[in-house]
Amino acid sequence: GDDGYLTGLVGAGIGPSLSPALHEREAAELGLRCLYRRLDLDRIGPPATAVGELLRAARLTGFTGLNITHPAKQLVLGHLDELSPDAAALGAVNTVVFTADGAVGHNTDWSGFARSFGRGLPDVPVDRVVLLGAGGAGAAVAHGLLTLGTGSLHVLDLDEARAAELAAALRGRFGPDRASSGGFDPAAALTGADGLVHATPVGMAAHPGLPVPADVLHPGLWVADVVYRPLETELVRTARARGCRVLDGGGMAVFQAADAFRLFTGREPDPERMLRHFETL
Ligand code: NAD
Repeated sequence: GDDGYLTGLVGAGIGPSLSPALHEREAAELGLRCLYRRLDLDRIGPPATAVGELLRAARLTGFTGLNITHPAKQLVLGHLDELSPDAAALGAVNTVVFTADGAVGHNTDWSGFARSFGRGLPDVPVDRVVLLGAGGAGAAVAHGLLTLGTGSLHVLDLDEARAAELAAALRGRFGPDRASSGGFDPAAALTGADGLVHATPVGMAAHPGLPVPADVLHPGLWVADVVYRPLETELVRTARARGCRVLDGGGMAVFQAADAFRLFTGREPDPERMLRHFETL
């Protein structure tokens, strides 16, 4: 008979994660029994050692796979038997599937962003795009934007060395004209830009406010936020009021879960149903 399947999330401070609800509900909708557990690194020990122990233990216990989040998306690389080409290119893993051959790492953050972008802003110009935030989310978003055909991506971060490092890595993967960085000057960067993707923590409850001055959000610019708590960030609200087409961060969160669900189960989830569920959580 069907004894269901076990999945889970490895990370620190993952109590508020919506992944358990998203995965378990979608499984139930498809007639599958899924138990999605939170495996909190804070309860086990120093992340660098706990990640490996958790992976081994989960595999032995019969888990189908795991999602991986902060601070383990890079740490987990040393504990895998195989990497998908995109996870290898990004150097970050958010989904691990246990197969007969071992633990295989994937990255659905970038594909989740790409699907959300394609759905929410399907026909916007992407010749020149500005990315604000060169951390983990920014790196995934950048990979998605350039894979989707963004002409050139200008990377901004208060940490200018971090922006330069991401831009250099993107040039290495996508070509010398595809990514740039420079001084931290959002107003100059957004002049003549088609779109802005925001990937810093600004706009979350703990970091309220606008990441760029309101007057640099010119009508005609499209604006995508990756922050999804709240969905309606000050950036999304302000950009909409100034006449910009906007995309909130909910789609990326849902589509990364949908892509992980497909990897875990081999079944096709219904992302629109998952989005409707997400909006009630
Ligand atoms: P991170 O800490 O790895 O990177 C954040 C980067 O933003 C850092 O490089 C930092 O220097 C920069 N930064 C901070 N404040 C800035 C400012 N005012 N101006 C310019 N740069 C600034 O964090 P992360 O993992 O990349 O996550 C960033 C945010 O993305 C999170 O807070 C979360 O809300 C969101 N996120 C959303 C999804 C989703 O599925 N929608 C997924 C992952 C992360």
